[in-house]
Amino acid sequence: MQIKRISILNEFECTGAQCPASCCRGWKVPIERDMYLKYLTEKGLFGTLLRCSIEKKEDLVAFRSTFHGCPFWGIDHLCGIQKKHGTDYMPAVCIQFPRQLYNLDFFCEETLYLACPEAARLFLVSAAGEKAFDFTVCEGSAGYEVNTTNDDRAFLDYLLYAREELAALVRDGMRFDSMAILDYGRDAQNACLGGKPLPSPRTYQSPDCYVIGIERMNKLFFNGFYHPSLRTLSPFLYRLCQKYIRRFGMFGRRNPACADQKLHDLTENLKQKVPHLDNLLNRYYEYYLFTSFLDIFEDYSFSKHLVFGVAKTAMLRLFLALYAEHKKQIGIHEIAKIIAVYERRAPQIEDALKML
Ligand code: SF4
Repeated sequence: MQIKRISILNEFECTGAQCPASCCRGWKVPIERDMYLKYLTEKGLFGTLLRCSIEKKEDLVAFRSTFHGCPFWGIDHLCGIQKKHGTDYMPAVCIQFPRQLYNLDFFCEETLYLACPEAARLFLVSAAGEKAFDFTVCEGSAGYEVNTTNDDRAFLDYLLYAREELAALVRDGMRFDSMAILDYGRDAQNACLGGKPLPSPRTYQSPDCYVIGIERMNKLFFNGFYHPSLRTLSPFLYRLCQKYIRRFGMFGRRNPACADQKLHDLTENLKQKVPHLDNLLNRYYEYYLFTSFLDIFEDYSFSKHLVFGVAKTAMLRLFLALYAEHKKQIGIHEIAKIIAVYERRAPQIEDALKML
């Protein structure tokens, strides 16, 4: 099996107790069946603790969320299960995080979730240094399950080619929200449905952008992203959300034109604090292509995945702007933390995409 590993994964090292947003903050930690059965038979006080910390809801077995996240995350900022029994005794998702392992049967791709602050920092260093997100290739056995039911190799090869083209266009300066990208997605999807030849992204150009103004942002925010439970799940993100609600919630509904202007001013203010913001956002979208574009192999939804990346990038810009509003400057570690906490919640906006 050919295993392709993205450049920043080779440089990754967990920062452990120094981490500003440990792995288990901001979401539920699911426990796979084999490990759950092991936990049920663990003896002694630790076994009792394990069993008291597990909750079962419908098909999901997970650790209960406490005010500070996973119940086994200690005051020393380390994992209690790992300290007592080692890494192999942790749920699979904890062992794997922040690696995203994608087995396409013909080959595997391994990337990093930017939901980890150290992964986000490595991403930012590469983005600022104009370094490409190359894949190194090695031979090995995957050791993880196949993630697809599709066996159309020709289509997968086309997706690899289209992804390279799109990434190169964005790296060469095409804006992440250019209509050229979405026009390409629409035509590629129609070509798939009609059994016609698939287009090349390079043949698309447009002076227009897909603008996510306040009305679209409110749809994304209130119909997918925001939930009051963020208050305990992710207090840092919750504070930024509250800031957004105060600034744009009701106001955005009553006077969208004025709210759009305010949003524009907030973004302009961010540009003063984050040099090369446009480049950063483009690189963020480019990285999104490397981690998510091949999902089209499973559902053939070009438009959905390309719009999701645009919405995700625009919303990151919003959170950076809210954070930076009254700061003189924001540094790489602060941006990395914002990206990490945001990434943990961002998948929820997929539900709201159909409202755009
Ligand atoms: S989020 Fe990343 S750096 Fe932080 S503890 Fe987890 S793997 Fe380590």
